[in-house]
Amino acid sequence: MGMTPEAQSEGVMLNAVDYVVGWARANSLWPLVFGTSCCAIEMMATGASHNDWARFGLEVARATPRQADLIVLAGTIVEKMGTRLVTLYEQMPGPKFVIAMGACTISGGPFYYDSYSVVKGADRVIPVDVYIPGCPPRPEALLFGIMKLQELIKAGGRKAGAVPNPVNKATFVDMWSETAKAWEEKEKAKQEAMKEAQERFKKENPDYKGVVIKRVAAPKFDEVARAARPERGLPATEIWSLIESRFPGASVFGLPAPVVPKPAPAAPVAPQPASPTPDPAKADAPAGVSASAETPAPAPAAAPAPAPVLTIPERLAAQGPEWVLDVAVKREDYLPLIRFLKEEDRLGLDFLIELTAVDWKDRFDVVAHLLSMGKGHKVFVRCALPHDEHPEIDSLTGLFAGADWHEREAYDFFGIRFAGHPDLRRLFLEDDFPGHPLRKDFEDPTRVVKRAY
Ligand code: SF4
Repeated sequence: MGMTPEAQSEGVMLNAVDYVVGWARANSLWPLVFGTSCCAIEMMATGASHNDWARFGLEVARATPRQADLIVLAGTIVEKMGTRLVTLYEQMPGPKFVIAMGACTISGGPFYYDSYSVVKGADRVIPVDVYIPGCPPRPEALLFGIMKLQELIKAGGRKAGAVPNPVNKATFVDMWSETAKAWEEKEKAKQEAMKEAQERFKKENPDYKGVVIKRVAAPKFDEVARAARPERGLPATEIWSLIESRFPGASVFGLPAPVVPKPAPAAPVAPQPASPTPDPAKADAPAGVSASAETPAPAPAAAPAPAPVLTIPERLAAQGPEWVLDVAVKREDYLPLIRFLKEEDRLGLDFLIELTAVDWKDRFDVVAHLLSMGKGHKVFVRCALPHDEHPEIDSLTGLFAGADWHEREAYDFFGIRFAGHPDLRRLFLEDDFPGHPLRKDFEDPTRVVKRAY
């Protein structure tokens, strides 16, 4: 119910006006869509022609918060995105409303709720008016949620900014008017400066006729013959022999146990001669039939043939042509080996496909995956590091520019430092994120489920 001070003195109540304003607002919502994962598909289907949310008064989805008074959240919200979501919400003019659609948005979701990076519910960062459960909720459910929101708005609605954040108790500030005012002043100054510059230019260049636009014929390029797709390249045995000759301390990682050929069947053993002493247990046996003749004594088992010892090249050859060699080296050989793999003409491993790390609980492995673009073969190189807080290894950025982000990622998630990296800082997480979340010893206070490892 609203009442102006003048109206109060005259006893005029504005209930009807409030009702009409609420009715108009509820039936003319301008949605900003914030779709991050699968639920967004259902949200898009709700807005498209088949379900057509415009039937319920929603306009075409807006691409900017400045033109929206409703934000529909659909999908997982990660911590880093949370601050952006607050910015979007603050940029929406009030009164403004929020629909949280699906389990991920409402609570962190069925799959990622124990992840270090997921916000465990949108209402931890902005106030939510309507929650729509489901994984994903169907378009009918979203339409029902929209109708519920309309009821809420017609009944007076939640006043923007009045609901504090349930976690940090901060009240949201509507920055729209301040931002819009600053922007308007800036635009005005820009227009004036432009006008002045144009006039000055005209005065200084009275004969200027403007730019003459000429159509240029489109250039023609000769057809370039495409190089044939490289074959699979050198076999693992050959790559290994080149590596072994240069780095005798290297070993092959993850090679399956050798397939040992079955030993040849033992030679038949000749039956033992009959015992002259009659067996008392067989005293009733017919005359002329001795017990030992019926059940000859078991022959001693023939010793199995010793398993042949297969060499590494033999074991590699047994894996077939698809096998990708995985070489383990000591820390001091890691960079020299990768340089050798890149610069040796017969190998030419000139492309770093990826670089990552594995936490084995008692050690880390840094793993680089290389490809020869010209020849087609691939090689993994790994190096074991101690399970310290910040184990260190040489950076590959001097050999491959692409190692830059891979190494920053490994630093971000595992805490591994790369000596010689030009800009080693976090890649995905905020600079002040506590710890390195892909380590097995990482403790996440927001994690709902504790892993057994
Ligand atoms: S609630 Fe289910 S459907 Fe929706 S974003 Fe999460 S996992 Fe995907």
